[in-house]
Amino acid sequence: MTWETVIGLEVHVELATKSKIFCGCSTEFGGAPNTHCCPVCAGMPGTLPVLNKKVLEYALVAGIALGCKINRYNKFDRKNYFYPDLPKAYQISQLYLPFARDGRVEYVTRSGQKKVARIREIHMEEDAGKLIHSPYGDVSYPDFNRCGVPLIEIVSEPDFRDSEEVLGYLMWLKSTFEYLGISDVRMEEGSMRADINLSVRPGGSDRFGVRTEMKNINSFKAIERAIIDESKRQIELLEAGGRVIQETRKWDDNKGRSFSMRTKENAQDYRYFPEPNIPPILISEELLRTLAERQPELAHEKRERYIREYGLSDYDAGLLTEKKALAELFERTADLCSDPKETANWMLGDMMYLMNRDSVTAEELNIDPAQFADFVIAVRNGIINRTVAKSVFEKIFASHDFNVAKYIEENNLRQIDDAGRIRRIASEVIAENPKTVAQYKSGKTKVFAFFIGQTMRRLQGKANPSLVNEIVTELLNHAD
Ligand code: ADP
Ligand code: MG
Ligand code: ZN
Repeated sequence: MTWETVIGLEVHVELATKSKIFCGCSTEFGGAPNTHCCPVCAGMPGTLPVLNKKVLEYALVAGIALGCKINRYNKFDRKNYFYPDLPKAYQISQLYLPFARDGRVEYVTRSGQKKVARIREIHMEEDAGKLIHSPYGDVSYPDFNRCGVPLIEIVSEPDFRDSEEVLGYLMWLKSTFEYLGISDVRMEEGSMRADINLSVRPGGSDRFGVRTEMKNINSFKAIERAIIDESKRQIELLEAGGRVIQETRKWDDNKGRSFSMRTKENAQDYRYFPEPNIPPILISEELLRTLAERQPELAHEKRERYIREYGLSDYDAGLLTEKKALAELFERTADLCSDPKETANWMLGDMMYLMNRDSVTAEELNIDPAQFADFVIAVRNGIINRTVAKSVFEKIFASHDFNVAKYIEENNLRQIDDAGRIRRIASEVIAENPKTVAQYKSGKTKVFAFFIGQTMRRLQGKANPSLVNEIVTELLNHAD
C-alpha cells in the first residue's frame, strides 16, 4: 500500500518591535537574566497590560502580505496553563476572534514547483520566558526576559505533503518577513519556529489520519529530518497493525528521533476566556489602506520580475531575491552599470563561490555597488580580461573601500590588445618548442592549449584571449 503524508504548520514569528507587546520593556535578545522585565511582564497581580500599537501594525502588515481577510474587530483571550516560565499562569493570545483569517500563500519548492498553502488564521500573542537548566543538578532557573515579546502565530491548513513543500513555504515566510522588516527571522535565536502537525493516510483516501505534533523546531535541517522520521514512524506503526495516538512529541535532533511528551491537549483544557483587561481592537479602513499601500515589493514578486525583465532562470532569480541584501546589491549595481545580466552572472558565480568559501552571509556582504558597477563596465568594455577580472572581483568582495579603476591602473592590469606584441610573444613560444609543434602538426591538436597557456603566461594573463587564440592558430598553421 502507498501512504500519503499530510502536514499542517503552526509557525511562531517574533515581531521586531523595540518594546514588548503589553509593556515598555526591551525585546532585545539575550541580556543578563531577568533584566528586561517589569511588574507587567513578570506577571505581578494587579498590573495592567496595554497593547503596543506597533505590534498591531506589524501583525497587520503580515496579515496583508499573506492575503488574509483582516478582522477589523478582534479580541484577546486568556489561555490558562501553569508552567514555570509563565509567571501569570496564563498567556494572552487570540482564540475567538483572531486579527486575520483565510489567507493564501503561493510558494515555489526547491525543485521549482509552484504550490499553494491556505492560511487558516493568524493571531497575536505574547511569548513565554525560558528555563535555564543547571548542568550540575536537578535545578532550573527561570529567565523572564522573553516574557511578553510579541509573536504572531500563523496556522496553515493541512496542505503540505512532504518536507520539500514545508521548506518552500517556510522560506517564503522567512524572506517575506525579512523584506517587510517586521521580524529578524533568526531561526537560531528562536525568532521563527515551527510546530509540525503530521499524519499519514492510505494514498487516495480523502479522510485525514490521526496526527501528532512536534513543537518548536527551529532549523530547516531539523524540520526536514523530523518530517521524514515521523512519517516513517507512523507508517511502520500502522503497517504493524498499531494505531497512532494524538500526542505532542519532542524532536531530538541529536538523536535523530522524536519522543512522546504528552497526550495532546484540546482548546477546552486551557479554559480560554476573553481577556478582561484589554478592550477589543478596532481597526480603521484607512489604517489598512495605508499599510497595504506601503507594502514594498516582496521576494516572490521580485523573483517573477527578474525572470520577466532580465531573462534569469527561475532558480537564479530565486537565489538573488531570497535575501533582501542580495536583491538590493543586485538592483543598485545593475542600475549603475545598466547591465543586469552581467551583474547577475558575477553574483551567482564568483560572489556565491566566495561567500561559500569564506562563510560570509548575505547580511555580512560588504560590496560597494558603485565599484561593482565600474567593474562590470570594465569587463564588458574589454578593459580587463576575464582571468584578471576574477582576481579583481575578489578584491571588491574583500573590501568596501576598494577602488577598481585605481587598482587596474596602478597594477597595470589593462587587457593587452596589441596584436603585434602578442604575435611576437607567440612566435617566441613556437620557436622555442619545436617538438610540441611537431606533435601538433602530426594531428595531436590537444597541445594547442599549451601554446595558448604559454603565450598568456608571458603576457601576465592580461592578453585579449580571442586575439591570442586567433594569432596562435594562424602562426601554428603557417609554421614549418
Ligand atoms: P488544534 O486546535 O488542536 O491545535 P487545529 O485543528 O487547530 O488543532 O490544527 C492545528 C494544526 O494542525 C493546523 O495547522 C492544521 O492544519 C493541522 N492539522 C489538523 N489536522 C491534521 C491532520 N490530520 N494531519 C496533519 N495536520 C493536521
Ligand atoms: Mg494548535
Ligand atoms: Zn515589562
